[in-house]
Amino acid sequence: MKRRPLFWRVYPYYFIVILLSLFLVAIYGAGEMRKMYIGQVTDTLEARAKVTERILRPLLLANEITLLNRECREISDVSSTRITVIDAEGTVLGDSYENPLVMEKHGKRPEIVQAYGGKVGTETRYSNTLQQNMMYVAVPVLHDSVVIAVVRSAVPVSEVEIVLTSFYRNIAIGGAIIVILAALVSVAVLRRLTDPLRALRNGAGRFAAGDLDSLLPVPATEEIADLSESMNRMASQLDARIRTIARQRNEREAILSSMAEGVLALDADGKIVSLNRTAADFLGLDIAQSAGKAFYEVIRAPSVLEFIERALRRTDVTEMEVTLPGASEKCFQVRAAALKDVSGARRGVVVVFNDITRLKRLESIRRDFVANVSHELRTPITAITGSIETLLDGAVDNSVDRERFLKMIARHSERLNHLVEDLLSLAQIESEIEQTRAKLSRGRVNDVIESSVAAFQEKSRLHQVSVTLSCEPGLEADMDQGQLEQAISNLIDNAIKYSDTGSSVAVEVTTSDEEIVISVKDSGVGIAAEHLPRLFERFYRIDEARSREAGGTGLGLAIVKHIVAAHGGRVSVDSELGKGSVFRVHLPKA
Ligand code: ADP
Repeated sequence: MKRRPLFWRVYPYYFIVILLSLFLVAIYGAGEMRKMYIGQVTDTLEARAKVTERILRPLLLANEITLLNRECREISDVSSTRITVIDAEGTVLGDSYENPLVMEKHGKRPEIVQAYGGKVGTETRYSNTLQQNMMYVAVPVLHDSVVIAVVRSAVPVSEVEIVLTSFYRNIAIGGAIIVILAALVSVAVLRRLTDPLRALRNGAGRFAAGDLDSLLPVPATEEIADLSESMNRMASQLDARIRTIARQRNEREAILSSMAEGVLALDADGKIVSLNRTAADFLGLDIAQSAGKAFYEVIRAPSVLEFIERALRRTDVTEMEVTLPGASEKCFQVRAAALKDVSGARRGVVVVFNDITRLKRLESIRRDFVANVSHELRTPITAITGSIETLLDGAVDNSVDRERFLKMIARHSERLNHLVEDLLSLAQIESEIEQTRAKLSRGRVNDVIESSVAAFQEKSRLHQVSVTLSCEPGLEADMDQGQLEQAISNLIDNAIKYSDTGSSVAVEVTTSDEEIVISVKDSGVGIAAEHLPRLFERFYRIDEARSREAGGTGLGLAIVKHIVAAHGGRVSVDSELGKGSVFRVHLPKA
């Protein structure tokens, strides 16, 4: 159905009703008026005829026809009425407008016939004499109860019509004015009704557009006022509800985005409903581009795809470990839980990714460590027990063998001792990182370097490797002097160990804006680039035989790394195979 404004739905009918009722009243009123006026004209004509009859009666009885005719004209002049006198035979005796002698007999005229009957005769018809419509009233002139003549008064109908026409015109003008006034008043009345409705409609439009703050005006019309108030109440409730939802959504988003776990929510069709930053990073997705897409369109990892497919099909919680291949292989524990709506119906699934890469690595480091320790311990122990058995089997009697085996026992015992010492100090440093940090005290870097270098005088002479030292005096750092000395010593020890005879090791201290850098530089065997990242791990050795030969335990650099970390610093290494290495300890400036 075609939509039209309320105003145009009501107003035309309103207007037609006003027009029609006014028209009917006017027609009826005009009809009644006409009847009344004509009745009044007839009464007037009758009265005039009766007065005239009184005046003319003596002249009729005296048969003064000439006088009678003149009297007719005089009465006519003063009353603006045509007066005619007709005798009982129908002959016109006198007439105010025409000579009676030339007039035809009037006995057959209907009003005259009625008057002959003793009654008042009335008639409206065309006058042949005057050539126009006339209204006639005839009264009988009685003498001894006999009609001796008839006196007739008449006025032209046109005179009556003129009066009536002006009367009709006035009614029409009045009616038109009333119609215009009624139209204006009804416009005003309708506007009073439609304006608040329009305001209501506009307000509802604003509500729909999300502007719930501007309230609707409350008009004086009771029903519309109730409606306005209800809508205002509805708007403020809606506003409160929307605010609550927005707050909850913001909270949820804040929680999701700050989570270390990746969260991915899917609907029942597998379309991505929500995805937090962490999950996007884990899966290598773009949040904006992935939203609303099916998971199999965006997720590439086959293990994750398979897991999600299974989780979407199953109703209970599922859990699994997946490994995402890539530059840095990552391992996740993935859990899925059903996403349910208010009625408890299953609407999708939430998948939570927990990055357990570090945990896995730690676990494998621990496993490796235990294996390494056992392996490291087994070698000297095997050597010692082997030597003892050989001695017991009789080698003790041979002085050369005895000395050889006892020396071997001594060497391996020392090695065992080293190993246990290193392990103990590593364990201690590791467990006491926090205490060490609190214990640090201001000390001179120079002192540490000098005493470290001094401790290697003997060894450097033995290996024929010279150790040089350069350090600007007065440099200070927060340190645990004993531990720092141990770290620098480990580096110098390695530098001498992995240097060729005749070369030199340089220990230098430099400063940058934020750091004090202690570097130990040798021109020894050097290290291939692929080993550099793992060099500071426990028991990591490039050439195990050479390390062991040189009395290394594989723990020296791990100890350095831990000590430096406890000082809030870091270690770095640059090396080139065959050319030498530079190990650096970076300490924060005091
Ligand atoms: P180790 O007791 O075997 O020396 P470290 O932890 O001190 O154990 O060193 C680990 C490994 O790093 C060594 O086995 C060696 O292969 C390598 N390395 C350490 N320092 C140097 C160096 N200055 N030059 C060459 N290789 C080195």
